[in-house]
Amino acid sequence: MRTLLDDIAEKQKRDRFLFDQRIRYVLNNPVSSLITNMALGLVLCFLLVPVFDQGRLCTWVLCLLAVCLGRVFIAWMYDRHNDVCSPKTWFRLYCTGTEVSALVWASTALFLFPADSPGVQLYLVAVLAGLVHGAGHNQAPFRRVHYLYAVTVMGPIILRFVSMGTIYHWTLALALIFLIAAVLVSTRTMRRILGDSLELRYEMSQMALIDSLTSVANRRHFDMFIYQEWRKAQREGVPIAMLMVDVDHFKLYNDVYGHQKGDQCLVDVARAIEGVIHRPSDLVARYGGEEFGVILANTPLAGARSVAEQMRQAVEALGIEHHKSQVAPFVTVSIGVAVMCPGRDGHLNALVSAADEALYRAKEYGRNRVCVYRDDAGSQYDAPQGRFSRSSP
Ligand code: GH3
Ligand code: MG
Ligand code: MG
Repeated sequence: MRTLLDDIAEKQKRDRFLFDQRIRYVLNNPVSSLITNMALGLVLCFLLVPVFDQGRLCTWVLCLLAVCLGRVFIAWMYDRHNDVCSPKTWFRLYCTGTEVSALVWASTALFLFPADSPGVQLYLVAVLAGLVHGAGHNQAPFRRVHYLYAVTVMGPIILRFVSMGTIYHWTLALALIFLIAAVLVSTRTMRRILGDSLELRYEMSQMALIDSLTSVANRRHFDMFIYQEWRKAQREGVPIAMLMVDVDHFKLYNDVYGHQKGDQCLVDVARAIEGVIHRPSDLVARYGGEEFGVILANTPLAGARSVAEQMRQAVEALGIEHHKSQVAPFVTVSIGVAVMCPGRDGHLNALVSAADEALYRAKEYGRNRVCVYRDDAGSQYDAPQGRFSRSSP
């Protein structure tokens, strides 16, 4: 049964995914942002050549170029060396780059404001408005970043117009305020569409990892998870356990009760097995047919055996009638357990084969039991009896 903690963990996972995707989106296309900024900057300088000396214009363009290259560098680092920083740090770097760039543009209201040429002022307004509008596409996923950017770029020039006190400049200031409002509304729509598509992507990525019948992880998820946990166990020098759970005489169950009941039985068994594990580092997956694979990260032999025994008892406790079973009058499972401390050269196939072999032994010893394989003291198989066993080895 799902608990509140499961729901919280699921929500955190989803939020993490969405946050990562949004950062990926904003840091995705640095070169186009570089080109847009530099093109607008050069156009502005070209228009301002008659008004300001070239030294001032060149200094400003060089500042803009330096900031743009800094932002490209951040995006390039994110692309190549994503794992050197946490997503939050990448986000802070992105925000800093965006805000510094906004400040460079805002400085035009102080250093490149053509106070005596109302016509050229219009060019400046057009360039800044185009810039904020263009940035809306990139900044759409992060509302506050975009609001701050728009206000930083436009705020100083609006204040400058207001301070000039003529009807003409007040009209320009008002027009700019309306323009900012329109841009912010249009990016709100983009943000919603982008959010919906990212949520959809998340749902699909989850569906691709879930078994449609039992709702536990599917084989693909299992293969990815075991590889990841095996590597982690190798790095940290800790044990990793795998349990192979197989429903006893399931073919007979299908023959007697039909495939629909068989499917429902698998759903119930999956839920019972999953109900035993509580750590986020553990995974239950449908390995194939009526077999389930369980990975218990950082779990020694005693722990793995105890979990397996609890799973066996949990399935037994379901009491699903199976009068043709030669083991008990209800559905039971056999479980093979393998625990390994992977060495540097170890391969995870060894773990899977060992769990498989232990399962084979559990079947051989009479089913409805747990058999353990150990690699540290040679192979060891034990065979606790199920309470209702009809046969014993
Ligand atoms: P054992 O105790 O040795 O494990 O015997 P078994 O009958 O459980 O094993 P066997 O491999 O002979 O048969 C497995 C059966 O599981 C065969 C197949 O009909 C059934 N099965 C596999 N997948 C599904 C499924 O998705 N739904 C249903 N209803 N049955 C399934
Ligand atoms: Mg089987
Ligand atoms: Mg079976």
